[in-house]
Amino acid sequence: MKICRYDDNRLGVVQGTLVHDVTAVLDALPAQRWPLPNHDLLVEALPRLRGQLEAAASRTSGRDIAGVKLLSPVANPSKIIGAPINYKEHVEESKKDQAIAYGRQLKSIGEFGLFLKANSTLVGAGEGVALRFTDRRNDHEMELAVVIGRKADRVPLERALDYVAGYAIGLDMTVRGPEVPSFRKSIDTYGVLGPWLVTADEIPDPNNVDIALSVNGEIRQKSNTRFLDYNVHKLIAWASEYYTLYPGDIIMTGTPEGVGPVKPGDVMECEAGGIGRMTVNIRAA
Ligand code: MN
Repeated sequence: MKICRYDDNRLGVVQGTLVHDVTAVLDALPAQRWPLPNHDLLVEALPRLRGQLEAAASRTSGRDIAGVKLLSPVANPSKIIGAPINYKEHVEESKKDQAIAYGRQLKSIGEFGLFLKANSTLVGAGEGVALRFTDRRNDHEMELAVVIGRKADRVPLERALDYVAGYAIGLDMTVRGPEVPSFRKSIDTYGVLGPWLVTADEIPDPNNVDIALSVNGEIRQKSNTRFLDYNVHKLIAWASEYYTLYPGDIIMTGTPEGVGPVKPGDVMECEAGGIGRMTVNIRAA
């Protein structure tokens, strides 16, 4: 099932090129008062709402998804986790290009650890990326994004996928420079998630997903998640050794080689096997 959030916080089920409005199902979510829970209410409820979502989708005729504004399919993650230097070829290109590495000694993800992107970066495909510091190099990083479905605290490798709600395309946008990654990658709109959430049952092997990104029609990144250094299982197990993962938490699994600069006016096209395609426009903030 493909679930999207669009326009004025409407909830949709995507089938083919149509989006079916299932917003009424949100009435089944628990009413919340302060303090809000530390997870995304919809993602947490997905297993029990699935039947209602399917029924609601079948009752509406749907409209062309090209005509809606796609927002991040996850509204309220407790955290967005980034995986640095997680493809060997990207490590190699980073070592060669000091405009990426900035003098840092790049070793391995195991030595580097994971980083966090601010939740306030998060946007959907329809919102686009607003570049700041346009005198500096701003790069695209195309990644498979994993969305956690239930609370995960120190989970073993072999059970890691039991904790996944689904997958989406992630763009871990970055301004290059000497600052720590969590700062450079936390600019508003520098975390794109979309075009929708594909539930985990549709991606039987997240460690074998084709991913590709083009800018203005020119292919820049083209790889497969089988080339991940730390694969999806390991990222979930490792992250959950340090902090509890909550429903709606997002793990951006790392970018393959081919990262490169974008400028205002550019158009990124992203595609991932089993997920779909999304178009993301770049503008100046
Ligand atoms: Mn990244």
